[in-house]
Amino acid sequence: MNEVKSIQSEDKMHPKFLQLIFVDINGVPKGMEVPISRYEEAVEDGIAFDGSSIPGFQGIEDSDLILKADPKTYAEVPWEGIARVYGYIYKGDKPYWADPRGVLKATLDELAKEGLTAYIGPEPEFYLFKKNGSWELKLPDAGGYFDLIHLDKAREIKREIAYYMPYLGLTPEVLHHEVGAGQHEIDFRFDEALKTADNIVSFKHIVKAVAEMHSLYATFMPKPIFGMPGNGMHLHISLWKDGENMFVGEEGLSEFALHFLGGILKHAKALSAITNPTVNSYKRLVPGYEAPVYISWGYRNRSALIRVPAFWGKGARIEYRCPDPSANPYFAFAAIIKAGMDGVKSKEEPFAYVEENVYKMSEAKREERGIETLPSNLGEALEALKKDKVVRSALGKAYDNFIAYKEKEWESYLAYIEENGLSGDTKKVIEWELERYFHI
Ligand code: GLU
Ligand code: MG
Ligand code: MG
Repeated sequence: MNEVKSIQSEDKMHPKFLQLIFVDINGVPKGMEVPISRYEEAVEDGIAFDGSSIPGFQGIEDSDLILKADPKTYAEVPWEGIARVYGYIYKGDKPYWADPRGVLKATLDELAKEGLTAYIGPEPEFYLFKKNGSWELKLPDAGGYFDLIHLDKAREIKREIAYYMPYLGLTPEVLHHEVGAGQHEIDFRFDEALKTADNIVSFKHIVKAVAEMHSLYATFMPKPIFGMPGNGMHLHISLWKDGENMFVGEEGLSEFALHFLGGILKHAKALSAITNPTVNSYKRLVPGYEAPVYISWGYRNRSALIRVPAFWGKGARIEYRCPDPSANPYFAFAAIIKAGMDGVKSKEEPFAYVEENVYKMSEAKREERGIETLPSNLGEALEALKKDKVVRSALGKAYDNFIAYKEKEWESYLAYIEENGLSGDTKKVIEWELERYFHI
């Protein structure tokens, strides 16, 4: 083991191995390593692999796939002394339908036909835990929102993460302690949607790797601990045409942006199956922790599902507060863009505008204002997705793989709940979730 490490690190600027990466249906990176001498072959012809055991890919009867490296994503991983590259999956000479990166690319190509480019900036949150070999989660600090110095025990770890980010193509912008003890956020610069989805995968990789160097575990699961804030991944979204931000209006958002926002609101329930795709996701979406619950929007309003930040000029955008870091970013972006563009096409008017704190509104008042709630569990979200043709279409044929995989996940949870005499609508975080989602 040590010997291998020394071979890799003896000449870091000339890596000897290349990691070829794609993501599975959950957005979890998978791949293989080849000697760096195969790089050109990987770009031009691709490298064949067997996809039969990849979560959400196809069965054994028909599993020969090819991963073609996308040279734009080549980067060297400094702490490992290897190179890595993302790729597109092919089946024969056609893009493979269940490849999440290919799914997003297809949506973006469609958008490009109308001259549009989507830009997305994420705010991923995560917790750092002490490694103690059990699910008893001991937090490494007792800090809270924006704590500095002695209360933020991970300040050097965050700087180390930010130090590595540019090597993998990310530009760190803000590092801060989050509300939860041991919870952190590092924001990085927005970019074109495909690049941002790649960046999210890279970011999670860096955070986990650096945490391990410090004998800690990083988790992006949406709600690791009951009673503590969850991990969100708010998304700042804008669409551009000919170098102009289409979301800029004279006062506030443009008509185009309002229709886009209207589309997201209209499809919000089905979208949550993709932006919040785990059983654990719905334990975050409860009142009291700055996570959205009600389908509403507002300027500056952090209690709404969609917030329009008070920032005008070229930076006009919407902040979608529902997504969490357990989402497959490629699927999530494709679905959000499809929903928003459906709103643009049908000139959807945004509904449920709120200026006040929507958590404090009575049920009657919410009803009167047409404010509905997000699905309260994965099962409800999947039902909404099944009924929503527009959001389903964002995944193309991968929809069948996705729904089959997710329904099995939900059923397996329900079976566990029943076997253990727990209530089906519990908001407590149970061991089944920690085992399944801690490492996502
Ligand atoms: N942690 C909160 C969430 O679950 C978000 C806190 C914030 O506004 O940054 O979405
Ligand atoms: Mg935050
Ligand atoms: Mg935010």
